[in-house]
Amino acid sequence: MGVRRVEVIDFDVVEEVNLDRLCYATARDVGKAKAPLLATRLKDIATADGFVATPLNAAVYETAGFRKALDCDVLVACVDRPWGRYVLNMIAAAHLIPVVDGGIAARQNRLGQLASADWRAHTVGPGRACLECLGQYDAAAVQLEREGYLDDPTYISNLPAGHTLKARENVFTFAMSCASFQLMQLLSLVVDPLGRANVGPQLYHFVGGYLEPPSHPDCRQDCIFRSFLALGDHVPVEVTGDRPGGAANEAQPQTGSGC
Ligand SMILES: [Zn+2]
Repeated sequence: MGVRRVEVIDFDVVEEVNLDRLCYATARDVGKAKAPLLATRLKDIATADGFVATPLNAAVYETAGFRKALDCDVLVACVDRPWGRYVLNMIAAAHLIPVVDGGIAARQNRLGQLASADWRAHTVGPGRACLECLGQYDAAAVQLEREGYLDDPTYISNLPAGHTLKARENVFTFAMSCASFQLMQLLSLVVDPLGRANVGPQLYHFVGGYLEPPSHPDCRQDCIFRSFLALGDHVPVEVTGDRPGGAANEAQPQTGSGC
């Protein structure tokens, strides 16, 4: 792909339960921080001359992670929580750094059968619908996460069955396909083949095996992120903050990035 410099930003550690979605970690790595592990793996397999991968143990909503993200030319998001997506959405609008995001949602019917498994990839930035308008996170849930509710097992267990904050889809092939769609978005953005850098959001349905027709949605007229366009550091909102639970979360990390 020609990528020579990668910043790996993640606060999470490898757990046994997420080995099934980490193609760079093994059972021997349980308990280790994800970022340095992935950076090392990338260096081992990179073919570009002078390849550099730099790890940072931080969430993108923490000051260190946020500042590091602002140094990047393009961001590929693997977050699965609302606050991280909100911050990335702000970076795309205010700092004009494209963000390639993706996600998976699976649903079962009343009989417990797989009824749908859908994954999507999209790139956000000026002239494209933002993550909030694409329905990739719930603005109300951002505040819940900042206040620590999403790390509260009681709060999570009391959510209704099937709630998105309860979802833990981790079928490896789904994650790989979603990651592939995200990298295709990145390639389209950078290579701009025949002047078609913007392929629009892509939504794939596993049940039925089809990709939705191309579309190029924009933000809603009343989307708050329109007013943040290109404001950079002058955005009148503090988007960063301390990680809920702080150091306690280091010892018992929540399920973090999906891929
Ligand atoms: Zn929007």
